[in-house]
Amino acid sequence: MPEFKTKEEYEKWKAVRLQKATKPQVENIEPKPQVRPKAKKPTEKKCRHCAMMIPFEARICPHCRKSQPSTAKAIIIIGIILLFLGPCFIALITHKETTPQKNTEYPTEIDACVQSTHIVENNLKSPSSAKFPWVCSAFRTPAGAWSVHSYVDAQNSFGAMIRTNYIWTAEYNKDKNEWNIIYFKLGDEELIKG
Ligand SMILES: [Zn+2]
Repeated sequence: MPEFKTKEEYEKWKAVRLQKATKPQVENIEPKPQVRPKAKKPTEKKCRHCAMMIPFEARICPHCRKSQPSTAKAIIIIGIILLFLGPCFIALITHKETTPQKNTEYPTEIDACVQSTHIVENNLKSPSSAKFPWVCSAFRTPAGAWSVHSYVDAQNSFGAMIRTNYIWTAEYNKDKNEWNIIYFKLGDEELIKG
């Protein structure tokens, strides 16, 4: 017990002591904030070559002296690879999507024009001399056939270049991938009359 100069001092000391003693102990223990163990940076890692535990920052294994691949470097390399390969994959996917559409588009106006030239050439005196116009137009008949009204410049039996008009109408069979000519007129001759 400490010494007191006055009675008041003693009473004060006694009161403080009593208060401390009567206070429930639980209140004195302040609830400590629960500290979760922080996800610490690993201090060790396994050597990629000899599987020994080595310091995490180590670039070279102290056991086998082999260099350790850096994870940050690996991520950057993968990122660069994806950057370059990404557009290739996109192109591949979009190509796959557009290719069947192109197939269903056949025949186009140009396909009909090209197709019409074959029978024209076969009926010329000099097929090798045949010159077809750059611009050709084909139209679809109400029945769904393709019709070409065009001309060909070719040598006749006397070797003179002669322009001959032709009309070619054909149906395209998708299943057989065949053209069935239903009408063909070369010059004044109706060679096929469906
Ligand atoms: Zn090692």
